[in-house]
Amino acid sequence: MQAFEYASPSTLKEAIGMLSSKWGEVDVLAGGTDLLSLMKEYTHTPKKVVNIKGIKELGGITKSGAGLKIGATVTLDELVSNATIKSEYPSLLEAAMGVSSPQIRNMGTVGGDLCQRPRCWYFRQGFGILGQDKNGTSLVPKGENRFHALFPQAPAYYVNASSLAPALIALGAKVQVAGPNGNREVAVADLFVIPKSNSGRELSLAANEIVTSITVPSARGVKNATYEVRQKQALDWPITTASVALKMKGSTVSSASIILGHVGPTPVQAKAAESMLNGKSLTPDLAAEVGKAAAQGAQPLNGTAYKAQLVRTAVKRALLEALKQRA
Ligand SMILES: Cc1cc2nc3c(=O)[nH]c(=O)nc-3n(C[C@H](O)[C@H](O)[C@H](O)COP(=O)(O)OP(=O)(O)OC[C@H]3O[C@@H](n4cnc5c(N)ncnc54)[C@H](O)[C@@H]3O)c2cc1C
Repeated sequence: MQAFEYASPSTLKEAIGMLSSKWGEVDVLAGGTDLLSLMKEYTHTPKKVVNIKGIKELGGITKSGAGLKIGATVTLDELVSNATIKSEYPSLLEAAMGVSSPQIRNMGTVGGDLCQRPRCWYFRQGFGILGQDKNGTSLVPKGENRFHALFPQAPAYYVNASSLAPALIALGAKVQVAGPNGNREVAVADLFVIPKSNSGRELSLAANEIVTSITVPSARGVKNATYEVRQKQALDWPITTASVALKMKGSTVSSASIILGHVGPTPVQAKAAESMLNGKSLTPDLAAEVGKAAAQGAQPLNGTAYKAQLVRTAVKRALLEALKQRA
C-alpha cells in the first residue's frame, strides 16, 4: 500500500476543509471495507484519508412523523438492529441483511455502501472505471463480462454495487450532502451518474463533498420488499436485485415503484412494469406479468443474457413478498 496521511477530525467543517477539490488526492474514510481494499490493490492511491467516523453529527438514526433520518456513518449492523427498520422498512432490512458477513455489517456504513465503487474486475485491475484500454476502447463488451450489466449505458458496462440503493430509491429516499459551498439534498436516484471519463466518478458528488445523512419517507401504508438473487450466500454481492414499494388504497395499488439493482451502472427504474400495477389488485399472475415487463428493453452483453430471467423472477418474488405484508 502506498504511504498516506491520516486525519480524524471531530467536526464536519474540519473534515470538509481537509478534502481536496480534485478526485484522487484525498479520500473520505468511513468503515474502510471498500476503500482499504482499493488502496491495497493500488486502484486508489490517495495522499491522505479523512476518517469521518469520529464526527458525532454523522451518526444515529432518528424517527419523526415524516420518516427516518439515517446518519451516513450508521453501520449496517445498527441499521438492521433498528426497530423501525425492522417493522416499517422490510425492503431495506432485507437489502442490508444480504451484505455478508456480520464483520462487514459491523464496519461498513450506510454512506459507504452508497458510495462504494463498482466491483467490475477491469476497474479493480487498474483499467479505469470504464474498463478501457490505452486507445479508449472498453475491454468489457468483448471480454469476460458475466457479472456486468444487463442494461448497460455505454460507455459504462459495470453494475452499481450498492444493495441499499434500489431499496432506498423505491422508498423515495434522499441524501443530504455537505461541502465547502454549503448543504444540498439529492434524491438517491440522482446520486448515481455515468462517469464522464475513464478516470471520472460514478457519483454526482464533488470530491470535497460528504454524504451526511439519508432521509427515508415514512413507509406507513407502503408495502415494500426486496428480493435478491445470489450465486452463493457467503461473502459476495447479489447478481440481480429487485426492490419494490407499493402505495396501497385498500386492496389496490395506487402507485408502484420497482427498482432493479446490480443490472446497470445506475439502479434501473422499471417504469413500464410499474405502470402495469396502477389501480390493480396484485395477484400472482399479475406479479409474473410485471416481472416479464421489467426485463424488457434489456441490452445484454454476450455474458449477461441470463440476468433477464433473474430480473423476471426477482421482481415477481419481491411483489409477492410485499403482497404478504399488512401495510
Ligand atoms: C466480502 C464483502 C461482501 C459485501 N457484500 C455486499 C453486498 O452484498 N451488498 C452491498 O451493497 N455491499 C456489499 N459489500 C460492500 C459493503 O457494504 C461496503 O464495502 C460498505 O458498506 C462500505 O462502507 P464503508 O463505511 O466501509 O465505506 P469505505 O470503505 O470507508 O468507503 C467506501 C467509499 O465511499 C466513500 N465514502 C464513504 N462514506 C462516505 C460519505 N459519508 N460521503 C462521501 N463518500 C463516502 C469513500 O471515500 C470510499 O470511496 C460487501 C463488502 C465485502 C468486503
